Amino acid sequence: MDFITLDCVHKTCRAKNMTHSVLAVSQAVPQPEGQIWNLYLQCRDCQGGTVAYFLDSERLGLQPANVELQTFRNFFTLVGTAPEMPAPTIIEAMPENVRGPWIEAEHSFDNGHAGTAAMAYRRVMERSLRKEHPDLKGNLADRIKALEGTLPDAIIDMANQVRFLGNDGAHDEDDPDMEDVANGRDFVRLYLVYTYELPARIARAVKAREDRKITKAG
Ligand SMILES: [Zn+2]
Repeated sequence: MDFITLDCVHKTCRAKNMTHSVLAVSQAVPQPEGQIWNLYLQCRDCQGGTVAYFLDSERLGLQPANVELQTFRNFFTLVGTAPEMPAPTIIEAMPENVRGPWIEAEHSFDNGHAGTAAMAYRRVMERSLRKEHPDLKGNLADRIKALEGTLPDAIIDMANQVRFLGNDGAHDEDDPDMEDVANGRDFVRLYLVYTYELPARIARAVKAREDRKITKAG
C-alpha cells in the first residue's frame, strides 16, 4: 500500500479527496472495540504529515497488508486523525433527520459554542435512538446504557463520563465546558460510525466480493 485518498486535515490546505502517501503503518495496542491501525500519511498537496487511525473491528480480523489498496477504505473505518479532522466530520449513511443536528452540532463545536453544540449532539442521540431503538425506555442516559450488546462496552463507558449526556443534561443551568463537549462528541461520532457507516461499508464490501465472483464466473 503506498497511497490512499483522504480530505487533508491541515487548516492551510484542506484539499478534498487528496492523495496521501503512506509512509508507515503500525498496529496500536488492541482496544476493546477492535484493532486500531496507525497510518502515517503525507498530503501530496501541502506535504503536511497526518496520522490516521483506522479501526478493524474484531468481526473482520483483517490486516492492512492483506487488503488491496482499492478496498482498504471499505474494510477499515477512519475513526480519528492527528491533527484532528476539521468539523463537520462527515459520516456515511445517516438518516436526514439525524444528519441535520449532527452538522449543526459540529459547526457549533468548531465555533466554540459549547452549550449549543451539546444540545445539538443530544438531539442527534434522541432522534437516532427513537428511530433505531424505539423500544428503549427512560431518559437519554438510561437508553445509552441499554445499548450494551449493540455497541462495544468501551464506547458506552465513554458516554457515562460525559455530563451533558447525563440525566439532567437538558435542564442544566450552566453550559457544559468544552472538554465535556469534546468527550461527548467523540462518543456520538463513534456511535454514528457503528450504527450507520460501518454496516454500509460492510454491505459494500460484501457486494464487491459477490460482483468479483460473478465476473470471474462469466
Ligand atoms: Zn494538505
